[in-house]
Amino acid sequence: MTTMNCAEFVGLVTAYLDEELETGTERRFTGHIAECGGCDVYLRQIRVTVAELRRMPAHDLTDQTRETLLDAFRDWSAR
Ligand SMILES: [Zn+2]
Repeated sequence: MTTMNCAEFVGLVTAYLDEELETGTERRFTGHIAECGGCDVYLRQIRVTVAELRRMPAHDLTDQTRETLLDAFRDWSAR
């Protein structure tokens, strides 16, 4: 069994997190984690980032942010 290289690993991270890898590919993917400390750390960081993003709704603007954007837009459209 050959494991993948780092570039291939990085390219497959999102598919792995979405559980879209085929069994053989997933085995090579997890095999690479076991051999490569850098990609192990990378995967952990991606997991944390994805979890953070999922907790945060895309439209969760604070009132302050919304006011700032509206003000900027008013200034712009008044020109
Ligand atoms: Zn690697």
